[in-house]
Amino acid sequence: MGVQDSLSIDSVAVVPEYCYRCGAALGTHEFEGTELPWCPDCNTVFSRNPVPGVHVVVHDDDSALVLDEPIPQHEGVLSLPGGHARPDEAPKDAVVRELAEETALQADPADLRFVTVLHADLPEVAFYLLTYAVERSDVDGDITTEFEDGEAYFAPLDDLRANPQQIRDSDLDRIEQALEA
Ligand SMILES: [Zn+2]
Repeated sequence: MGVQDSLSIDSVAVVPEYCYRCGAALGTHEFEGTELPWCPDCNTVFSRNPVPGVHVVVHDDDSALVLDEPIPQHEGVLSLPGGHARPDEAPKDAVVRELAEETALQADPADLRFVTVLHADLPEVAFYLLTYAVERSDVDGDITTEFEDGEAYFAPLDDLRANPQQIRDSDLDRIEQALEA
């Protein structure tokens, strides 16, 4: 039997250096025209695939809920509530959980509208970020931020447009789409 006959393929989020099954150092193997990381011990190629995540635009007239959180991944710019779905979680359930964790606001999955998918292809990892919108009037509770020195507030779209350095283009674009829809 040749290598190709018993080859298995596995999906990973980040290009690995070692096989997570065997611990062996990986080589490479041509698969469907691309050189992929390959484990010589268990004859598995590793294909890097996007990781799904969710974001939500909570909006009120022409304002959207934004977070100002002191964490490195946000690189000093505002962000939308959201995060990664757990394996047993539907996207809307992930939105509801992340919104509650980050702002203490309570949403009902039935009130979430789908807006768009943002494909973020970063050097190490790629994401498909499913983006939903919900009206502020359909969300319950008072805002309490997850981080002591973090902030969450409704920012008028005009203010965000006037200060584009404080928010990523892709986030501003998604807020605009949510407000139009
Ligand atoms: Zn292996």
